[in-house]
Amino acid sequence: MAGKFFLIDTTRCMACRGCQVACKQWNKLPATKTKQYGTYQNPPDLDGNTYRVVRFEEHPSKENSVAWYFFTEACRHCLKPPCKIKADQIKKGAIIVNDFGAVLFTKGTKELQKSFKVIKQACPWSIPTWSSKQRKLVKCHMCFQRVEAGLEPACTKTCPTGALNFGDEAQIKKLANERLTAAKKKFGGRGEILDLEDVRALYLVIDEQIKYRPVA
Ligand code: SF4
Ligand code: SF4
Repeated sequence: MAGKFFLIDTTRCMACRGCQVACKQWNKLPATKTKQYGTYQNPPDLDGNTYRVVRFEEHPSKENSVAWYFFTEACRHCLKPPCKIKADQIKKGAIIVNDFGAVLFTKGTKELQKSFKVIKQACPWSIPTWSSKQRKLVKCHMCFQRVEAGLEPACTKTCPTGALNFGDEAQIKKLANERLTAAKKKFGGRGEILDLEDVRALYLVIDEQIKYRPVA
């Protein structure tokens, strides 16, 4: 099977959180108990019951008002995954890459509990989370069973705006180029695709990355 990619076009995201909920539904994950802590984002980060979270950041805009930065976040399925490189030093085979490029945490990650922080720190975006209920490391698995059955992931299937897209590498990279051209036209030449050579989840943004996700 050809390598699969995501395109996340942040210019189209309206922060409906449909992707976040669809991920929970497909994975039969409960809501995370949380509280209002000064932002519309909820829960505050990825956790054992949340494999995809929509980040809500707000910044002052030139027009003396507020600009929203919405950013649906999950594992990027790195082409050379640092989490796997680190895990292989501790428990070989606990993290694997399947034939279309999904980085998967197997049941072997149960044995990585003591090294959990090391694996999390190896990830440039601090994605892996320890699930105390499942007693293993968890994160987005690219809905690999759906993809094997010829379907797309639950999150991309649900997105109503075209912000989340999924497909073969050539198809997604072509779409990314088209969307980038459109974004530059619309936003005065601003726009870039983040980490194009390193990941399978390509983010189209029109501002500095730190405005979308200030957390490490
Ligand atoms: S984004 Fe993080 S958890 Fe996902 S494959 Fe890359 S290093 Fe691993
Ligand atoms: S479903 Fe689409 S529009 Fe809604 S929050 Fe997710 S990426 Fe954004």
